[in-house]
Formats: sequence, structure tokens, C-alpha cells
Amino acid sequence: MTLLKIAIQKSGRLNEGSLKLLKDCGISVENGGDKLKARANGFDLEVVFLRNSDIPHYVEDGVVHLGIVGENVLVESDSKVIILEKLGFSRCRLALAVPKEVDFDDVNWLQGKQIATSYPKATDAFMAANNVKASLHLISGSVEISPALGLADAVCDLVSSGNTLFSNGLKEVAVLMRSEAVLIQGETVDTKVKKLIQQLQFRIQSVLNARNYKYVLLNCPVDKIDRMNAILPGMKSPSIIPLVDKNWVSLHSVIQENDFWNVIDALKAEGAEGILIVPIEKMVY
Ligand code: ATP
Ligand code: MG
Repeated sequence: MTLLKIAIQKSGRLNEGSLKLLKDCGISVENGGDKLKARANGFDLEVVFLRNSDIPHYVEDGVVHLGIVGENVLVESDSKVIILEKLGFSRCRLALAVPKEVDFDDVNWLQGKQIATSYPKATDAFMAANNVKASLHLISGSVEISPALGLADAVCDLVSSGNTLFSNGLKEVAVLMRSEAVLIQGETVDTKVKKLIQQLQFRIQSVLNARNYKYVLLNCPVDKIDRMNAILPGMKSPSIIPLVDKNWVSLHSVIQENDFWNVIDALKAEGAEGILIVPIEKMVY
């Protein structure tokens, strides 16, 4: 039997999201204690728990077939891997930040300065693209405290809410890249493994689609059906369900998370009533 092997982060910001994604795909894994690997239930899959920054190497070498990593680590790693899916969690940005009192007009402020970061390649690329010559301090953690300690003039660090920067007296002045969790694969995989990867990817896509959509039910006056139909995107077109009151019908459809509130507002303006919004568990095309 062929067993698919996937590496996920052992502990840290990607661990929970990775396990949740597998769980939503019907795959459960015990992640107890110091286990290096675990056989999953619900798929011919072995899960290997590794450090985020090590995962690209293991995938490139074929020790594991797949990995879930932060997109930004691929910039820092030389490993040759292929991104199969963007997974929509652990979203963050690599940002340049300076002490809040700095009068930062543009990146030329950085000329000759010291920048602390854990992400040297992305930072170097940013400086090269902007013709900035600054020196890098490579720090493996708590980069945000280095300006206050007098070690650096600026930092390049991963940010999501910006709270850490703020509470360390820093302000964000540029975004170097955006990142989210991604599913990666090595450059060559054999046919049997490829088949398993496609099966898993199909499950993942169904879960991700579902996360992007909501199921909506609403009551609609019969003479407004065409207007509401024009507003509701739906997978094909909305379903119409008769109500006991012949002047009304119930319309059922799906709405994308992105334009969710715009659609709801438009429906209300057309006279929709009793709008219910329900999460979707899986969405299979
Ligand atoms: P490891 O120690 O396992 O090698 P790491 O030091 O990269 O990993 P984390 O700090 O857990 O570990 O970050 C893992 C990934 O999570 C990062 O590569 C990034 O994609 C994402 N991430 C980092 N910081 C944030 C943040 N503040 N908000 C959201 N996602 C983040
Ligand atoms: Mg770390």
C-alpha cells in the first residue's frame, strides 16, 4: 500500500490551522507529546511533525511528499518545491518597521542603517530592489525589541494585527511581501503518490471553497424573483421553494465571503425578508 506523507509544523502558528484543515478533510491525527510522526485516520496518510523552516528541505528531498508551510519560508529557503494550493490561514505580511518617532519619508532613510530580521533573503531582495545599502542583523526571535535595545534602526518582521510592533513603539512603513499557509510538493513524484495527492487536494479544495462561501435563505415577494435572481450569484441559479403564502417564495443560494455584505444589502433593498446565513461544510464541484 502506498502511504502519502505530509509534513506539518510541530508547534507554532501553523500547527493548529494545518490540523484543522486535515480534520475538515475528514482526516484526524493525534498530535500528542513529542511524537515525530503519526498515522492519520481517514486517509492513507502519515503526518510528520517538523519545524516550519525545515519542511521545504524534507519535501525537496522526497522524505515527505507534501508539506504545509508559511509561504514566506519559501523565499528564505533554496529548496525547489511547487506550491499546489494557497490555504487561506496564517495570513500575515513581512513588514518594515521603524521607531514611531522616526520621520520616515521613503526607503532612502534606510541608507547606511542597521536592520534586524529573521528573514534575510526577503529583506535583501527588498533593499536591492530599492537601491538601499544597509546592514542586516540576523536574529532568530523577538526582532521587535532590537531598536529599543540599540541593536538596530529598523526591523523586518512578520505582522498580522500589528499589535506587537505597536506595543514595542514601532510603526509599519512598508510591506515586503504577503504570506499565508501553502501546500507544497516536490518537483518529482511517482504516479501512485500523485494519485493520492490529487485525492487529498480535491478534499482540500472542497473545504476551502466551502470556507469562502455562505449558504443564504431568504423570503422574497413573488414579483421580485427576477430582481433577486440578478443579485444572487449562486452556483447555477438560486432554488425557489414555494411558501404557504402564495405571494412569497423562499430563495436559496450561495454567496461568496468577499462580496457578502454588498449582496445582503442589495437583497434587503429589494425587499428580502427573514434572511438566514448558514456556513457550508464542504463544497464539491
Ligand atoms: P519554526 O520555529 O517551526 O521553524 P517559525 O519560527 O517560522 O517556525 P512561527 O512563528 O510559528 O514559526 O511562524 C510560522 C509561520 O506562520 C510563518 O512562516 C508565517 O507564515 C506565519 N506567521 C508568522 N507570524 C505570523 C503572525 N504574526 N500572524 C500570522 N501568521 C504568522
Ligand atoms: Mg521559530
